Amino acid sequence: MRLALDIGGTYLRWEVVGSVAGKEKIDTIDLQTFIATLIEKYQIQALAASIAGQVYDNRVLSAPNIAHLPDFEAFDIPYILENDLKCAALAEAKFFECDYLVALYSGTGLGSGAIENGKIVRGWHNLATEIGHIPYKEAPFRCGCGKDNCLELFASGSAIEKWAHYWQIEPSLQEERIKKMVQNALAHAAAVLITLCNPKILVLGGGVVEHNPFLVDAVRQKLPKLAPAFAYNETQITLTQLENASLEGAKILLERLV
Ligand SMILES: [Zn+2]
Repeated sequence: MRLALDIGGTYLRWEVVGSVAGKEKIDTIDLQTFIATLIEKYQIQALAASIAGQVYDNRVLSAPNIAHLPDFEAFDIPYILENDLKCAALAEAKFFECDYLVALYSGTGLGSGAIENGKIVRGWHNLATEIGHIPYKEAPFRCGCGKDNCLELFASGSAIEKWAHYWQIEPSLQEERIKKMVQNALAHAAAVLITLCNPKILVLGGGVVEHNPFLVDAVRQKLPKLAPAFAYNETQITLTQLENASLEGAKILLERLV
């Protein structure tokens, strides 16, 4: 059997491919023990994991939103690791049958992944399209990467928590101040990606967007002010239809692991 994992900032989602699946809150389990138990129980021979962090050459370079990453070597089976948004973009491209696609997700963090001519845009060290960390505005707190002006500090689940605490209001998009901030920052992210990558389809997803699907329309409406017409005119902006694109992407990588 093969195991696909999606290790996010809040949840671990897992699937023994073609068999059972589950979702665990990460702060309630020990990842190392939990995964080892799955491997033992289902006689897993290979695994692929989508990681909410920077991944290069099958190693996690950094994952500030995940407290205790497992030691994959210790499982003693073949494994493949990939950045979660690169996994999501792969799955979205397959779903939409589209070779020029960008996935922009707002969950615990803010991330994106791009598919160009059917392939993941990686950059030199697989660090391309880290939209969450481009400079935007100064915030009164720091991002996981150490800077205090990242886009992620304005358009992610963790940002909503931080600002709600700072402003002493509810961490919800029903709060006008938070709604405005998230809409603007997310539209900014979309405009940058569309202008740089020229995708046929821009897919929005992640917990924050999926719980507040009006954000898709908000982004559409704000784009004309933020991106040149030639860039956004033809691009389709849509909400993800996949329940868990990152996990689906990990399954695609498993197919490639011989
Ligand atoms: Zn950052």
